[in-house]
Amino acid sequence: MPHADQSQTGIVRVSLGTRSYDIVISNGRTWSAAKSLADWLQHAGLKGIRCLMVTDAAVQESHGDAVRSSLELAGAEVRTALVPSGEQSKSYEQTGLLYDHLVEMAADRKTIVVAVGGGVTGDLAGFVAATYARGLRFVQVPTTLLAMVDSSVGGKTGINHPRGKNLIGAFHQPIGVLINLTALSTLPDREYRSGLAEVVKYGVILDAEFFEFLEANINGLNSRDPDVLRHVVARSCELKADVVRQDEFETTGLRAVLNYGHTFGHAFEALSGYGSLLHGEAVAIGMICASRLAESLRRITSRETQRQASLLTALMLPVSVPSDLLQRPDDIIRCMMLDKKTEGGELRFILPSRIGHVETVKGVSPEQAIRSLY
Ligand code: NAD
Repeated sequence: MPHADQSQTGIVRVSLGTRSYDIVISNGRTWSAAKSLADWLQHAGLKGIRCLMVTDAAVQESHGDAVRSSLELAGAEVRTALVPSGEQSKSYEQTGLLYDHLVEMAADRKTIVVAVGGGVTGDLAGFVAATYARGLRFVQVPTTLLAMVDSSVGGKTGINHPRGKNLIGAFHQPIGVLINLTALSTLPDREYRSGLAEVVKYGVILDAEFFEFLEANINGLNSRDPDVLRHVVARSCELKADVVRQDEFETTGLRAVLNYGHTFGHAFEALSGYGSLLHGEAVAIGMICASRLAESLRRITSRETQRQASLLTALMLPVSVPSDLLQRPDDIIRCMMLDKKTEGGELRFILPSRIGHVETVKGVSPEQAIRSLY
């Protein structure tokens, strides 16, 4: 296994000057958050702190008590805020309810927000932490594969506008990320596979060797083999951390590579009603559309698209645009125009030039984009 990390735990550093932090990866039976958290709080000069632990009902049931005890062991006084499971919670309403919690606990700049859950909880709680009192410290405890490999790392937080995903948000880095791989044991199959789509994305955009590792370890991925997972999570975090380090605020264009498959994917997700296509499923289909677009622009061959489609299919992810969405090409274009990657009304896409490398491509016409839906 290339790059395999044989140790029980690993640390990936996200190097961002004064905003640097560690992603601590463990796979113990118990949550060992206490020590890392205590270290981070000490580093931040915080003692006797209070924290708002934000989680959703499903996560609370399986992991809430264990994480809470761990936080208490680190010396924190913990209040728990439950949000309903699902994408719909990235809303004005849930944001307001979390502000209410913070007001009721008389939160101040020493209060920390701890997000325990998937990307929805992390994005929502992170946005609340970014905006309450002009910024509270924030810890991510991701419990889905997608959140472990992607959303908990890099400081993008936000909620949805009814007409566009993640339109309201802020950059706000956590002070640390605590990953316990055993949390994945309770994750429903469809959610697990949704996370695998983002893992495949890293191979396509940045690391051909990692893509080959995924192709060679389909059984291990499908059976959630702990050694395969440890490597996959650690490598994905390293790749993302490296991109974020070089372009924290998405100003140089480099960070945009992480959006491969997302321009199409966000449109599919929004038009099918948030939650009916999972984020990773929409991204899987979006990657294949983007790859077909790259083919039509003669940037890659059909073999490269086929390799991605074969891998995604072997991981039981969808690769075709749902038929109801195919009836709405104009809506898809309209949605993509709202995407933050458009510039001056011009469609921009992240497209592969080979497995392991992508580039930003401007000036794609709506007709070209529509043709790559099929
Ligand atoms: P999610 O947060 O909705 O979690 C999926 C489901 O799994 C939920 O029902 C949750 O209750 C349940 N769950 C979570 N952990 C569990 C566990 N260990 N055991 C059992 N059930 C568990 O979805 P997600 O896929 O984690 O995240 C998707 C969101 O992440 C989207 O809103 C997307 O926009 C966002 N995202 C953000 C970034 C970023 O950089 N901020 C990057 C990628 C995606």
